[in-house]
Amino acid sequence: MSFNKTEVHADAVIIGMGASSCLLLLAMDRRGWLRGKRVVVIEPLLQQLPQKTFCFWSSDKDSIQRDLKEIISDSWSHCEVMRGQSLSMSPYQYHGVESSVLWQHTRSVGNNNGVVFIEGLVDAIDEEGDKKKVHTAIDIFCSDYIFDSRPPSFASNDAGFYHIHQSFVGWFVRPKTAHFISDTFRLMDFEIPQNGQCQFMYVLPFLDGRILVEFTRFGKQKIEQQEAQEMLEAYIGEHFGDVEMVASEHGCIPMSNARLELSGPKLTIPIGTRAGLLKPSSGYAFRKMYDHAERCLDELEKECPKAFVSETSTGPKSASRFAWYDQLLLHILSHDPQQGKGIFQTLFSKVALPDTFQFLDEKTSIWQEMKIFSRLPKIPFLRAAWAGCSYSKMFHPLSLLILSSVLVVMGYSTFMQNIFGYSLLALGMVAIGMPHGAVDHLLDGGNGLKSRAIFIGQYLMLMCMMGVLWYFVPALSLFFFIVFSGWHFGSGDGYVWGLKSSLSWLWGCSVLLYLFTTHSVETTSILSQMNISFEVSSHYSWILFPWLLLALFKRNLAWMFTIAMLWVSSFLPLVFAFGLYFVGQHSWVGWQYLKLKLNKNSMQIWWNAFPFHLGAWLLLGATFFFHMELSSWSEYSAWGLFFIFLSCVSFPHVWMTHRSFAK
Ligand SMILES: Cc1cc2nc3c(=O)[nH]c(=O)nc-3n(C[C@H](O)[C@H](O)[C@H](O)COP(=O)(O)OP(=O)(O)OC[C@H]3O[C@@H](n4cnc5c(N)ncnc54)[C@H](O)[C@@H]3O)c2cc1C
Repeated sequence: MSFNKTEVHADAVIIGMGASSCLLLLAMDRRGWLRGKRVVVIEPLLQQLPQKTFCFWSSDKDSIQRDLKEIISDSWSHCEVMRGQSLSMSPYQYHGVESSVLWQHTRSVGNNNGVVFIEGLVDAIDEEGDKKKVHTAIDIFCSDYIFDSRPPSFASNDAGFYHIHQSFVGWFVRPKTAHFISDTFRLMDFEIPQNGQCQFMYVLPFLDGRILVEFTRFGKQKIEQQEAQEMLEAYIGEHFGDVEMVASEHGCIPMSNARLELSGPKLTIPIGTRAGLLKPSSGYAFRKMYDHAERCLDELEKECPKAFVSETSTGPKSASRFAWYDQLLLHILSHDPQQGKGIFQTLFSKVALPDTFQFLDEKTSIWQEMKIFSRLPKIPFLRAAWAGCSYSKMFHPLSLLILSSVLVVMGYSTFMQNIFGYSLLALGMVAIGMPHGAVDHLLDGGNGLKSRAIFIGQYLMLMCMMGVLWYFVPALSLFFFIVFSGWHFGSGDGYVWGLKSSLSWLWGCSVLLYLFTTHSVETTSILSQMNISFEVSSHYSWILFPWLLLALFKRNLAWMFTIAMLWVSSFLPLVFAFGLYFVGQHSWVGWQYLKLKLNKNSMQIWWNAFPFHLGAWLLLGATFFFHMELSSWSEYSAWGLFFIFLSCVSFPHVWMTHRSFAK
């Protein structure tokens, strides 16, 4: 209980004593920040930190080489990727730091400066007034600066984000026959069985005669212990003969461009992996963590904790082109891992090594990057780029804009436009238009037979109520239809674009008004078939203009494309304009929501919806059949009836969807 705990004030609290914390403490020492300060480090594994070998590349000019001179155990000047081709890395060198050396050195630097190392786990971090508190089982530490290196979790559901693993098992061996010394290390030896994966051997020959041979895989499937043993035995036997086993290391580094989910209040400064410093496409982080520690010290010296914390506490904001390149490679490695071998071998054989390292450091110019990509296999990257585009929020509205423009170019109500437009509309209605509203039972219905029956009963009752309302008071029904559809359409778009609910509702109503008033003649005609005599005015077609200004202000390209699509579709017959928005925009957004919410793919949802949308189609057929019996057939009476039918089936759907949304 917290009232038994001692409250200790510290100038800085560092959570965890992994690589990033060590690099931060060393930077604090170098910059003289530790003098006269009380710094507390909290780490649960203080006595048994895991064995890792951290490597990084740098040139003579880089300060990292100078600053970490004391702990660099080995350096290599040549690198091999294609067997037998040892390439000079000049002006770079590859350096190795043993984790045990890093920790011992940091401990002794810390001890000399009065840093307190506590073995324990951080349970919680909170704020009381202006005081930020770090809770452990025994004490509470208060500080303005809380550096947090606890491993983050990655968001799992975002489209366009990939989460694979860099798994590896490494053996430190010593050849029995000869002392193997080389200033060449093997970064990636792909000449091992790929078995449908992207896997390679990483070989580091140390000065003391040990060799680290590491079997590494980039992919969804992690390496199994047994297969690692077989691979390593075969490789070591072939390359180094009889060996003595010295030690081993294994690990799994997340290769992910997914959002980091930093739980709890945003009171800390993330460092290391938690700060997004692990490069998703390579798994390297050491160099970035060193640079980040330097930047943290720049901020510490400014002595402005509030600005520092609020700037960094939400985690990384990287959306650079390098993040996009990482995304492309992650897409390839997740979907087609066998391509990895060709891509990496081409990268290292066709691009000069210094350029490659500069590229991996994210320090190249666009021109250099174009040259690098021009040498890599094109097809996998083009496929990945296409997949990436299709995940982008603006891709869909842009496609709709293009589609509406193509329809306009075909000419108003021409044979071509009708064939193309009606076919697409029918396809869209069958694929998602009707089905997106036919799985409400999965969202909100309960599982038992009884609750399913009640749910269907409620559904049919709401539909009937709407039908009865249309029969007796068509004008009120129309008003009601516009208001609830505006609410429903608006919340779908607002969900994607992050709008407040009142604004979303206004937007949804504006879209409907725009569609109807820009087709005033057709709408008036359809209304008359609904027994509503009302002359629809075309004076409200400006209604989207304020929304365009807002979309511009918010720099929301997806929204701008939607507005442009609506404007273009005002040159199309009403049925196509409405269909483009209803199927292309609204139903599609609903479909994505369903995929996420139900955790099912499109096919599964479609089949789950099948009995219900089949029912809806049959009901529509029956309605038309009886209507034709009663009245003479005309185009507009058919559309009038269709809209009435749509409002009847959509009313319970709107009701149920919003109940699920609210939950
Ligand atoms: C085996 C291995 C080899 C690697 N080799 C390289 C390499 O050669 N080059 C490179 O650039 N990158 C390498 N990496 C990647 C990266 O540099 C490392 O993962 C690095 O350790 C990340 O540093 P970190 O401080 O973010 O995390 P960690 O080093 O994992 O430190 C996090 C610390 O937080 C502690 N902790 C967790 N929960 C709590 C809690 N509740 N309270 C307090 N403390 C907590 C953990 O015990 C841990 O010590 C390697 C990774 C691994 C796993």
